[in-house]
Amino acid sequence: MRVLLVEDEERLARLVAEGLEEHGFSVDIENDGLLGLDRARHGSFDAIVLDILLPGRNGYRICAELRADENWTPIMMLTAKDGEFDEAEALDTGADDYLRKPFSLHVLAARLRALIRRGQSPRPVTLEAGSLVMDPNRRTVTRSGTSIELTRREFDLLQILMRNAGEPVPKDELLSRVWGSEFDGGANVVEVYVRYLRQKVDEPFGLATLETVRNVGYQLVSDE
Ligand code: CA
Repeated sequence: MRVLLVEDEERLARLVAEGLEEHGFSVDIENDGLLGLDRARHGSFDAIVLDILLPGRNGYRICAELRADENWTPIMMLTAKDGEFDEAEALDTGADDYLRKPFSLHVLAARLRALIRRGQSPRPVTLEAGSLVMDPNRRTVTRSGTSIELTRREFDLLQILMRNAGEPVPKDELLSRVWGSEFDGGANVVEVYVRYLRQKVDEPFGLATLETVRNVGYQLVSDE
């Protein structure tokens, strides 16, 4: 069983590799995200173990890019214990499982074996809210099969609303997650982009699924 481990903390990478080798795996290590992605694309691995914070390219992006290429090698993400990273997001980008650091090597070996047993069948990730469907890796959106062109900001905004479908998302959270905390243009930009989104995902279809929640923010509801 051949595993690619992408982890920039070299000491940890060596420890994990040695531990997995004791469990019968053969392990290749990359310490850089971009090199890891390249290795994952061109090598033939039974599974990939991905750290999230990496130089070159982060684990979410690596995972998303592999899945967008229809590379279905099972992926285990290593997440930080402090909850700084969103485990749901790891799964949304197409990871198959995650482990929080620090983890036991026995557990990692057992979960990797389980992933490898499941194999490499296609597992496309989509977010759905009724007839609205998003592929976060390919960055495509359709409503009832009709393709919808979105700008990068519109897409990012819709992605957060779809991940939280049926629940209101505060306007300031949308602002900081889509525009970044350094953005100083004011929260009005969210209203403007919600209007753009309505003109693309709702109005042409005679729908009103992107609702304003007074004094809170916005929520996307299913049309079904
Ligand atoms: Ca790291």
